[in-house]
Amino acid sequence: MHSIITVLALAAVNAAEWNYETNGADWPDLSIADNVCGGANQSPIDLPKKLASSRYVNPSDDNFQKMYTDQKDDIEVAWNGHTSQTGVLKNGPEMFSSRLVAEQWGGPQRFEGQQFHFHSGSEHTVDGERMDLEMHTVHYPQAGQNNGEFVAAAMGIMFDVSSYDEGVEDWQVEVIDNFFDNLKWEETSSNPKVEEVTYGQLMNMANMDTRWVYKGSVTTPPCATTVYWNVCRTVYPIKQKHVDMFMDQLAREDGLDGYGNYREIQETTSAHDVWIIDSAPGSDGKKYGDEDGPAVQWEIATIILAVLTGIMLIITGCFAMKAAGTIGGGAEK
Ligand SMILES: [Zn+2]
Repeated sequence: MHSIITVLALAAVNAAEWNYETNGADWPDLSIADNVCGGANQSPIDLPKKLASSRYVNPSDDNFQKMYTDQKDDIEVAWNGHTSQTGVLKNGPEMFSSRLVAEQWGGPQRFEGQQFHFHSGSEHTVDGERMDLEMHTVHYPQAGQNNGEFVAAAMGIMFDVSSYDEGVEDWQVEVIDNFFDNLKWEETSSNPKVEEVTYGQLMNMANMDTRWVYKGSVTTPPCATTVYWNVCRTVYPIKQKHVDMFMDQLAREDGLDGYGNYREIQETTSAHDVWIIDSAPGSDGKKYGDEDGPAVQWEIATIILAVLTGIMLIITGCFAMKAAGTIGGGAEK
């Protein structure tokens, strides 16, 4: 009898090795192998809407590329005790590449998606604001590269019922709604096998040309580093019913729907090395407008081009007149 109780007690400890009761404040003290939750480069962090202009990288310099596909046939949407998680790479390859992580930090350039899961509220905050939901795709470095300090990459997309980007178009809303319908979160007593999850459509739709990147960690114990974090700057809309259904998923674990499955914000340090990837410098006049940066260089380049074009036109004109004279003379014969 005693041994059975001991075994049951051990099992209980393992199942509840960690939880979100304090949103991770107690994790640094947990007796878990390789626990670095109290270490450096921890995630999530608060992401600033704007950075100094020198912290922006043009998407063409990053040479970012991504390719994801819809997941088909008996996809399991699994409740794992902490979140709803779905494995990918079934039809693969699900991958992205980014030059910044290799050139800036000596990491691998290509990453393959392994699984996606969700947090509510969002783990990252934007200027202190927490969104309703955040989706993470966990990626591992593709084999055969120099990984440097990187063990993984994460792609984060935030959703909110009301505080979303107003530029999001109707077709994008349709892609989002369809994706969340696919997950069948209304099923709370078992893990549904679903026919199709339009994951590729969602990931290919998400605008990753404007995103935060930084060196962080896994956001669950043992909080391993270093993770190449990519968080989409566009906050996408989500229907209240889908947020409610995710909360019903959280309710599968005692009290989890009460405190949410997100880790508290970690202090940003210089080691996080936060950058913003954004579209062409000066394109909207906000980020570079008051700087002697690329916008000014573009103006100078435009003036030089205009002058050169003028000279070319004059030369072409002279030749044309001369040629017309010759031909005209010939025609009169
Ligand atoms: Zn996550």
